[in-house]
Order: sequence, then structure tokens, then C-alpha cells
Amino acid sequence: MAAEIRTFTCLTDNFGYLVHDPATKATASIDAPEAAPIITALEREGWTLTDILITHHHGDHVGGAVELTRKYGCRVVAPRDKSGKIANVDLRIANGDIVQVGNLLARVLETPGHTLEHVAYVFDSEKAVFAGDTLFSIGCGRVFEGTYPMMWDSLLKLRALPDDFRLYCGHEYTASNVKFALTIEPDNPALQARAAEVAKLRGENKPTIPALLGEEKQANVFLRADDPSVAAKLHMKGADAASVFGELRERKNKS
Ligand code: ZN
Ligand code: FE
Repeated sequence: MAAEIRTFTCLTDNFGYLVHDPATKATASIDAPEAAPIITALEREGWTLTDILITHHHGDHVGGAVELTRKYGCRVVAPRDKSGKIANVDLRIANGDIVQVGNLLARVLETPGHTLEHVAYVFDSEKAVFAGDTLFSIGCGRVFEGTYPMMWDSLLKLRALPDDFRLYCGHEYTASNVKFALTIEPDNPALQARAAEVAKLRGENKPTIPALLGEEKQANVFLRADDPSVAAKLHMKGADAASVFGELRERKNKS
């Protein structure tokens, strides 16, 4: 039986996600930005939280975990994290591990860069990837703890997933990402198409997520730092992809 996925807003611009297995009634929250909207979403569906799958230690991804575990007694799954900011972890996971949510299987991809311990969760049977703050639609996370080559490698791991997979990311940043991306690639038709779609969705106050990974690969300039046309736009012909990626990220930071 296919999983049911629910998307909603937490805090200001974080996404809350529930992944529910109808066969076993297991339900996972991907990250725990804030308890109240997650509880509301669970109660609306009549679901009980069994698992929290944490992507990284930032407060806007773990802040609701303690309250949720107190209420539901659910399991907390998290990467190995030296910050100590992820409290009461039941299962520490690493690259290639498989996490079970009822009968659903989530594969762990280590995607360091934004933070050193950051992971993504890939539900292959659902063609869904929960990428936290590594990959956003038409953007990517800031590189706080890692290096540009490290973050670029992480983006390549996500880019290697099939085109028909859907991207569920940590934040609704798509409109601002589109604005920046158009300054680099005003003539990219895939980006132009996404820009029109995003303007329509935001105008209707709808989320821009999930995004189709195949479309992101065409439209998201941060996934195309190894495309010679992107290097040319930055006057970096012949530079290695990680350097081109670093320049893109620096420009976005200043935008
Ligand atoms: Zn973060
Ligand atoms: Fe975040």
C-alpha cells in the first residue's frame, strides 16, 4: 500500500511532513520544527506519531521533538551529531542505513555541508526524498559547517536519484530562490517555467513542494555547477564544479 504524505507549514517557512503507512498505521514526522502544527495535522487525520526522522541538529528542525515524544512516546531517529542538540535519540543512523516506518523503508543518505551530520531520507518505493536543508527547490542550503566541495558532493548524491522522484525540502524558499536564479540564468527555459509555476502557487497561497527532481535538475542552477554554460555565466570557464558551486553560493549569500 502506498504511503500517504501530508505537507504543512511550521514556524514561519519550515515545512512539516507526515509520512503514514496505511497498512500498519505507523506515522513518521520528518523533522520536528514545532510540535503544535504537527499535532494538529496528526489529529486531523486520526493518526498517531510513531517516529521522528531528524535531518540535522538546527533548532528549526528539532525544536518540537521533546514535546512530541512526551505526548506520543514515539521513536527518535537521528544522525550522529556532535552538537548534542538532538535530545533523546533512540536510533542513530548513518549512510546506507534503512529506517523502518511500519512497512515503509527509508534509506539514509549522508549529505554533509549545511551541517556536518546532515542526512536525507529516501523512500524509494514512494519515489520521495526528504532533503532537509541540503537541497531546496531552485536553491540549496547555506554551507554553515562543511566546505563547498563537501556540499557539492552532497548535491550530486541527491541529483543521482531518478527524475520521477519528488523532492520534499525543509523550507518554503522557492520564490526567493527563483528570483536569485534568474539573475544567473535569465534565459533558462526550465527555470522560466518553474518561475511561472511558483508565482501562481504562491499567489494562491499554496506550497511549491513537492518538486519533481527531473525538473529541478534542469531548472536549479545549484545542481548544474558542472554545466559549462553555468561556469561561463560566472566568467569561470574551465573551473571545477565545486568552485563554480562555491561562487554561486557566495552570490546567493550576498543577494
Ligand atoms: Zn538548517
Ligand atoms: Fe532549517
